[in-house]
Amino acid sequence: MDVPSITVPQADLGAAYRAQQPAIDAAVGRVLASGWYILGGECAAFEREYAAWNRQKRAVGCANGTDALMLILRGLGIGPGMTVATVSHTAVATVAAIEMVGATPLLLDIDPDTYTMDPDELLAVLDDPPPGLPPIRAVIPVHLYGHPCDLLPMLAACRAAGVAVIEDCAQAHGARLDGTMVGCFGDAAAYSLYPTKNLGALGDAGVLTTDDEALADRIAAIRQYGWKRRYLSDSVGVNSRLDEMQAAILRARLPLLDAGNARRREIAAAYDAALAGGPIAAPVRRPNVEHVYHQYVVRSAAREELAVRLRAQGIATAIHYPAAVHQQEAYLGRVPLGPAACAETELATREVLSLPIFPELTDAQVEAVCAALRAEAR
Ligand SMILES: *Cc1c(COP(=O)(O)O)cnc(C)c1O
Repeated sequence: MDVPSITVPQADLGAAYRAQQPAIDAAVGRVLASGWYILGGECAAFEREYAAWNRQKRAVGCANGTDALMLILRGLGIGPGMTVATVSHTAVATVAAIEMVGATPLLLDIDPDTYTMDPDELLAVLDDPPPGLPPIRAVIPVHLYGHPCDLLPMLAACRAAGVAVIEDCAQAHGARLDGTMVGCFGDAAAYSLYPTKNLGALGDAGVLTTDDEALADRIAAIRQYGWKRRYLSDSVGVNSRLDEMQAAILRARLPLLDAGNARRREIAAAYDAALAGGPIAAPVRRPNVEHVYHQYVVRSAAREELAVRLRAQGIATAIHYPAAVHQQEAYLGRVPLGPAACAETELATREVLSLPIFPELTDAQVEAVCAALRAEAR
């Protein structure tokens, strides 16, 4: 049987570059000519612009989103002998960052509608910590797929318990909860700027934001060997710098982020309409949130067959993620789970399927996906 070529890719980074080629080429040319390539004027300007966009006092650029989480944990003094609660239905990076600082991850289950941390389970473990674990000192809720998690009850409980809240915003640049942008709720927020993210560099990059100036200063030093002055380490640091080329590209892209998110919502609305009344579950959007659809994730007990039927029409899909963190070889049987034993997480892992969604999809491509989805609904 002939397999048709892909006419609707699941992601297309080249299209995003071509859509903005003159501005990106000019930004790169400016840096090449400047003679300054790491942590310079472009990085400082990007940090100012990103902080202003995220309505936070400070932003600190770094090498990637995993490091942004790790740097926040280090800046807050989280390390060995402490537990950090997060979810198992996430990019493995969230859990890797916790282990990078020597802390113990505790993996909680998700709300099956939004695939984000179940606040009831968090409240339960704060109230009655699992025996044998070091004290819980921080929580990393993940705004997965671009949908804000149910943060408000979690924030209140964490404040009362003296537990830090670090928002993993790697998939949710610009998403809003009750009208407030994610990244503005917790003690600090980490963003990946990996090329596929809603704001992406053309290489690795990350940024973190906070309203706590002293925390931002500590983290800015940790990011470069603990230096406040060149060659003199006041604290023990790492190397997680942002390079000028990526910062300049990100400055060219940041002004387009809100429009890109709006285009993602427009595409999502078209998919929602095409799926209405059919057997495939469209993503749930809570009434008080503005979703930014990093991924448009449908749910089906027969997702493999669905993926094959879409592929036969030239439509590519992906699975985020084929295994939860605690099911992966590196973590199997080793990381503690919350009392719900990640039952909803394991179910979701078998049923989720990510359709193509990115701002550069043409109307014709969106319509091709909608036609395929409508055929599924009949
Ligand atoms: C992408 C991602 C990260 C890690 O970002 P990198 O830039 O790849 O290090 C962390 N958390 C989530 C939820 C992500 O999607």
